[in-house]
Amino acid sequence: MATKLVLRGIRKEFGSTVAVDDLTLSVEEGEFLSLLGPSGCGKSTTLAIIAGFEAPTRGDVIVDGRRINDVPAQERGIGLVFQDYAIFTRMSVFENLSFGLRVRGLGRVAIEERVGRVASLLHLTEALQRPSVSLNMSELQRVALGRVLVLEPPLLLLDEPLSNLDAAIRLTLRTELRRLQQELRQTVVYVTHDQIEAMSMSDRIAVMDAGRILQIGSPMEIFDCPQSRFVATFIGDPPINILPASLTTVGGHVVVRHGGLAVAFNGAQAQAALTGQVEMAFRPTDVVVRRDSSSRAAFEMVVDLVEPLGSETVVHLRAMDTAIRAVVPPAFAPRVGERVGVSIPAERVHLIDAASGIVVR
Ligand code: ATP
Repeated sequence: MATKLVLRGIRKEFGSTVAVDDLTLSVEEGEFLSLLGPSGCGKSTTLAIIAGFEAPTRGDVIVDGRRINDVPAQERGIGLVFQDYAIFTRMSVFENLSFGLRVRGLGRVAIEERVGRVASLLHLTEALQRPSVSLNMSELQRVALGRVLVLEPPLLLLDEPLSNLDAAIRLTLRTELRRLQQELRQTVVYVTHDQIEAMSMSDRIAVMDAGRILQIGSPMEIFDCPQSRFVATFIGDPPINILPASLTTVGGHVVVRHGGLAVAFNGAQAQAALTGQVEMAFRPTDVVVRRDSSSRAAFEMVVDLVEPLGSETVVHLRAMDTAIRAVVPPAFAPRVGERVGVSIPAERVHLIDAASGIVVR
């Protein structure tokens, strides 16, 4: 059994602060949706409104077709893990994990089975008999998560549930959480400011800023087709290159140029961007770097810095006052000071209206 969640025109004011501003969102049954955005953009407030801990100033929270604004938090049947977790420190890990199931009257065998499974998933099996008071931060966070996961709620709200874990276990839990969610077909709203976490786990991502959803789509839609400078720069590591650019018409083509770096579009493609100041934006992975810098189509740049990351290498390139990042295969092995030829396929370049920050192409 999965749940569908709809938020309609949600606004939340705290005095003069507008934490959430006319937010409308539909989360499908069994969907894993992430709210991604910088600190203070309204993610946690949105979650607290769904959970029933905050009342919206305006707007409706609808679960499976029913408006639940007036249903108290404890009666909403929603699973929640917040950043500020509270667990019973006098109880053992097992007692903490089984508490909710005991309250529900589950039998001993069923409880042991569910707790055992979740403990194993969260790497807590060895800690089951330990008193919770002896746990470190990472273990405490996993117990808080486990207490909710054992209940298998059809709608699960998670607010940065992996934030206190170290890198290795964080990576494992990302995969395990996603696997469990798919198996149970849970509807999940996941709050994070970590783009990699959002990209790797979600069916869709809603990118938020200043209380609003700027764009919503699958991870690859958000990555490949950002609709604004904000989304383009928030997603992607290494970050997208953005350069102020001028537009000229040469023959039937529109040429977008920053210094010696030029990209030609056919007229229709760039028409929308023909007024005002523009910026050209392109991912480091879309930059074509060649050893041969003499080709007419390529712009000559000098390798400024090389960052080998194992599976790929990030190269910082410079020419006069133009600086960009490119990603090349490790076998390319560029050397600092080397001259290379750089080109960017027109279909991979976004044009941004400099004044509004909107991607116009
Ligand atoms: P973070 O990741 O830092 O938690 P967030 O994106 O979750 O950030 P919120 O915590 O929802 O953002 O906060 C949104 C805005 O509302 C912020 O300006 C915050 O200061 C404000 N805010 C949140 N809760 C309250 C409150 N109880 N009283 C007053 N202002 C609040």
